Amino acid sequence: MSALTSEIRVRFAPSPTGYLHVGGARSALFNYLYAKHNGGKFILRIEDTDQARSTKESLKMMISDLKWLGILWDEGPDTDSLIDKGPYGPYKQSERLEIYKKHAEELLARGKAYYCFMSDAELEAEREKIKASGLHTHVESPYADGSIDEAQVRIANGDKAVVRFKTRELRKDYILKDLIRGEVKFPSDMVGDFVLLRSDGMPVYNFCCAVDDYHMKISHILRAEEHLPNTLRQMMIYEGLGWALPQFGHISLILDDDRQKLSKRKGAVACDQFKKEGYLPSAMNNYMALLGWSHPEDKEIMSLEDMKAAFTLERVHASGAVFDRVKLKWMNAQHLRALPNAEIWKLIAPFLQEAGLKLPTDSDWQQQSVETFKSYLEILSDAITLYTPLDDSKYEIFAESDETLKMETTKPVLQAWKELVTAHAKESFTEAEFLQIQDGVKDKTGQKGKNLFFPIRVALIGKPNGAELKILVPLMNKKSILARAEQALAKC
Ligand code: GLU
Repeated sequence: MSALTSEIRVRFAPSPTGYLHVGGARSALFNYLYAKHNGGKFILRIEDTDQARSTKESLKMMISDLKWLGILWDEGPDTDSLIDKGPYGPYKQSERLEIYKKHAEELLARGKAYYCFMSDAELEAEREKIKASGLHTHVESPYADGSIDEAQVRIANGDKAVVRFKTRELRKDYILKDLIRGEVKFPSDMVGDFVLLRSDGMPVYNFCCAVDDYHMKISHILRAEEHLPNTLRQMMIYEGLGWALPQFGHISLILDDDRQKLSKRKGAVACDQFKKEGYLPSAMNNYMALLGWSHPEDKEIMSLEDMKAAFTLERVHASGAVFDRVKLKWMNAQHLRALPNAEIWKLIAPFLQEAGLKLPTDSDWQQQSVETFKSYLEILSDAITLYTPLDDSKYEIFAESDETLKMETTKPVLQAWKELVTAHAKESFTEAEFLQIQDGVKDKTGQKGKNLFFPIRVALIGKPNGAELKILVPLMNKKSILARAEQALAKC
């Protein structure tokens, strides 16, 4: 083996037809970790021959999500300009059409493929016939042994034909030594003559994929289990072209907690959505890595560097991985809380800004607030609910306070509250000082329990229930507390 062919080269090959799904991101991550662990190369290839469904927006979104995750490639489109970099480009299939055409011609010339002129209606009629007969066979095209020259004349005269791969002489079991699933046996008749080129000349996924994996010198193909039937077709194409097979490893499906295929109905599945909800890329990577892989020492919280150092295929298991959203959130909290307060503030600030919150700009206050709130933060967007009561402009007396405001005992409690706050010598309050004032109100008015606490809550957060006051008050100042107390009193 030459140095080049012994190099580990893996790829992630998304079709830019939508968002980056966590399943795709996990495949990208496994390939990336495998490459990095082994000093190999990670390639990003764009499978965009389905021109009706591929879009530039989707491509940009996928690239930006991968970049956000920090799963960066050695070869493929540049993250900003999208211009291909690397010695085996172009890396976008839509720019490699000549290569596929050449290999299709090669297969035609070798008698491994043929032009098929069956119309959709004819195909459908054949399928119906097979169904009615109860036999499990595939449609046998009458053109399989036709002359290529004659077919090309027909095409030149305007007839439409697809190029099909001829499988009927390959009726044998194909055995795949899968790196993750062990030996996988494909029955000989699992696939019929499949299409390589559509009638408009555009190549289809299985063909492009095999050709590109070969030309890009991909050594290991790690992809989702659902591609197993494609692998058989691709093995046939490799064989037809006389190419040595790369190694394959099929990663198990990601399942929802009901053990069905992961679905949007249960919550986010798009990386972009997780980003918007305030998950950290480090937590996403950590969680995704554990969907099918485990650390040799069963470490649970890991950085990308930890994972690169430990990732081997021996520890990738074949059973389905359950996507546990509660666990992901917990893991996010672990990653988040491990960061310095200043860093956490930087991460939550855009969420607070987006929510239109106006909050103090001094960094001492910001860090103190993070220190106070971080044990409540699981995802960054949680900060919005936590910080909203601290924004004076958001203070209002909610309808649920009506009952409290109607109580006879409320006014004297609020008056005592206002007096004691006014008498407080400093601008800010510690938790102990707040509790002391609350006790003072109790002594002064003789009220306790609901009669005491509800009015104070209304005067601080506009409602008789919700956030814990002793946590909030140290983050508020006297001026704001008094202004709120005035507003509540005015409603008594
Ligand atoms: N474009 C295919 C997909 O997005 C790639 C599958 C593969 O890795 O071969 O599913």
